Amino acid sequence: MRIDLHTHSQVSDGTEAPADVVRAAAAAGLDVLALTDHDTAAGWAEAAAAAQEVGIALVPGMEISTQLETVTASGPHRRGVHLLAYLPDPTYPPLAAALGRVLDGRNDRVPAVLARLAGLGIEVAHARVARLAGPTAAMGRPHIADALVDLGVVADRTEAFHRFLNPGRPAYVDRYAAALDDMVRLVVEAGGVAVIAHPWGRHRPDGLGEEQLARLQGIGLSGIEIDHQDHDPDDRERLRAIAADLGLVVTGSSDYHGTGKTDHDLGCNTTHPDEYARLLELAAAAAERAGRSGGWVVGP
Ligand code: AMP
Ligand code: FE
Ligand code: FE
Ligand code: ZN
Repeated sequence: MRIDLHTHSQVSDGTEAPADVVRAAAAAGLDVLALTDHDTAAGWAEAAAAAQEVGIALVPGMEISTQLETVTASGPHRRGVHLLAYLPDPTYPPLAAALGRVLDGRNDRVPAVLARLAGLGIEVAHARVARLAGPTAAMGRPHIADALVDLGVVADRTEAFHRFLNPGRPAYVDRYAAALDDMVRLVVEAGGVAVIAHPWGRHRPDGLGEEQLARLQGIGLSGIEIDHQDHDPDDRERLRAIAADLGLVVTGSSDYHGTGKTDHDLGCNTTHPDEYARLLELAAAAAERAGRSGGWVVGP
């Protein structure tokens, strides 16, 4: 059984419609696929229908933008953390409201980034970004990157991030993200399970060491995504030791974005069936405790 639990569609910053991601997953030989668009459940219904058509299992999920504040020897430190939420009830009002704040923060940021670019002499019309973004519910830097490609300023999204959009680059603007602790609690209260996406992405623990992961587990975190392209073999080995120590669920996934991200092909990393089974059990227990149906897995 091949299981990929982290993918994006056009509903956030992937390049294919949810149904096409599901069809591509079936064609790639996957048996279980989670659609985890940024900060939204808007693609679930379409993906579920396609999963039934092609006969694979669809796990409804999302990748929520959060931030974690820690205190270090040199003072307070803030980092972004992407939280994968599987099977939460997206209509649970506190979760829906929290996601709404994140999406508002995304929408507010786009004009601010465009103003920075204009200050650099690069005029990008909001309408161009919106046209290229298509049906997204979660507009973001990747769509601004697409506009820069469209204008011939850069060759691809990667160059746009490196030259303009990454932190420390001239068009970078911060945006609102929910507190990680609050979001872990909300996901569990909504009958879902919470897994930290690529915790050491770009090869740095950056405040997410064993002690912090243990603390987060204490408030409801279920697992960590270890097999991800942003983790090198050494990261993966160290994270596996921590997960074993703490009893965290271990996942592996592609973080597929269609043509929006290279080297993230469907199924390039996968989750072990036993770990997937543990996630489903934890979600069922959370849904039971919460007295909500949570989400649903569609298909076989
Ligand atoms: P945002 O959601 O607007 O904060 O933008 C972050 C998103 O940009 C992430 O979800 C990534 O998928 C994407 N991203 C970040 N760096 C790159 C890159 N170098 N190339 C393509 N996509 C990227
Ligand atoms: Fe993304
Ligand atoms: Fe991510
Ligand atoms: Zn992702």
